[in-house]
Amino acid sequence: MHPRARRRGPAASRALAGSIVAVTLVIGAASGLTVMQMRRSAWEQVGRVSQNLLEAVEHMVDRNIEFYDLSLQAVVDGLQNPAIDESPPELRQLALFDRAATANGLGAILALDPQGQAFVDSTNAVPRALAFPEADFFLAHKQRGDVGLYIGKPFRMAPDGRWVIPLSRRLTYADGAFAGVVMGTIDIGYFNGLFARLSIGDQSRIAFFRDSGELLVRSPPIERMIGEDLSSLAHFRRFFEHRSGQFVAPGHPDGVEALFTYCRVGRHPLVATAVVPTEVITALWRPKAIAIAVLVAILCGGMIGLTLRLQRELERRSRAEARALDANRDLARLAHTDGLTGLPNRRHFDEAFARAQEQARGPMPRRATFSLVLLDADRFKLYNDTYGHLAGDEVLRAIARVLQRQIRGPEETACRIGGEEFAVLLPGASSAEAVARAERIRLAVARLLIPHAGNEGGGITVSLGVAEAGPGESGGACFAATDAALYEAKRLGRNRVVARLGGAESARVA
Ligand code: GH3
Ligand code: MG
Ligand code: MG
Repeated sequence: MHPRARRRGPAASRALAGSIVAVTLVIGAASGLTVMQMRRSAWEQVGRVSQNLLEAVEHMVDRNIEFYDLSLQAVVDGLQNPAIDESPPELRQLALFDRAATANGLGAILALDPQGQAFVDSTNAVPRALAFPEADFFLAHKQRGDVGLYIGKPFRMAPDGRWVIPLSRRLTYADGAFAGVVMGTIDIGYFNGLFARLSIGDQSRIAFFRDSGELLVRSPPIERMIGEDLSSLAHFRRFFEHRSGQFVAPGHPDGVEALFTYCRVGRHPLVATAVVPTEVITALWRPKAIAIAVLVAILCGGMIGLTLRLQRELERRSRAEARALDANRDLARLAHTDGLTGLPNRRHFDEAFARAQEQARGPMPRRATFSLVLLDADRFKLYNDTYGHLAGDEVLRAIARVLQRQIRGPEETACRIGGEEFAVLLPGASSAEAVARAERIRLAVARLLIPHAGNEGGGITVSLGVAEAGPGESGGACFAATDAALYEAKRLGRNRVVARLGGAESARVA
């Protein structure tokens, strides 16, 4: 295979493969970025919606508490007014409770004496026999005078056992001593009703709980979770890192990872949260991402497939090209080779002879003279006639081997130029040197000792003519002069070397 073709094929296909890999990488990176962008915007979108929702929740809860607190304060103020406190129960009832406070999920307002016993009831002129001496809100006010509005732990309210959140304020005697508690309740079901309208999706939830951890409201509701202490959850502390924020953590109670958005409710010791499972967010971008990935994979796969085919085709072509070059070289070599002896043939000789003449005529520093030797087997027709044509062929091969051994280096050329005739080109050789070389050839052939009964001496011999190319001499003239010398060698009796007649070496006959 031609080395250049061998090199060009792989280099071209490597460059092709490289550029396709680069294009594939660029497409892959671009789609990767697009997918990342889609993921980020899905998270941002859900984060924003959660925040907006939570703001609405916080506002709603805060407003309800503020509103109810006003009613509680009115009762506290009323009870501390001796005129109202000492009036008959029906009148006191009317003076203490406005009707608004009993609407919108707000339960009865009770006033408890220092023992926790109800002595005023917004729903009955004669208070029901209710007592909360051990309730957290009662104890809180009993122990401290500066609690203000207290949001207590949720509990089930008699008589129907509904879950309520107690809100309370302290009653104080003129001397500052504990005089009892005014408490009201908010129905947890009321918040559930409000939050149901704010749903942000099937698996998402809204909740709020006390700073101390008790869950107050969860939408969608799970009744058994009301009042549950969340403070043992691993992420609980994070709700207090800022006034509002977001983080990802395992959800409760399912343990499913979720995005938590939280904020404090007004100035109250409450935290509101909106929780969206991350799989809900993932569902917003992943199907599109998968579609993009599949498309890109098909595109890149197709490109790589086409490239491989193209690459194979390129390599196949380059191999075919190399084979064609090799075949051409073989043909060229065959066209210049003699089939019988393996020596270069007449065509090759003509070209080499023309080159030698050109060099001989070239500019001075590179001008190089040459000598031509022509060799002809003696009485070869007779040899064929005696020993047969095949034996004659064998002799021609033997002479060719002698010539191959006698030439030196790639500059010198020995060719078979006709039937039993050979030529040797000796660049740079003078006539005398060429005669000496021709003589060596003659002796070498004679030493083969191939019997030739019809020849003088009884063996195969050759005659040789020699001529050094004269300055400015034409190729034809040089060849003719050498041929003439050969003819002279034959005439003088064969088996000898004769140099150009009329030249400096004309007398030289070996
Ligand atoms: P001379 O000494 O004067 O050269 O006599 P010759 O017989 O060699 O010369 P001639 O030109 O009369 O004959 C040349 C012979 O060479 C004729 C032909 O049979 C023989 N010859 C030419 N080519 C081949 C060949 O390829 N193979 C064989 N075996 N013989 C060949
Ligand atoms: Mg001849
Ligand atoms: Mg001959």
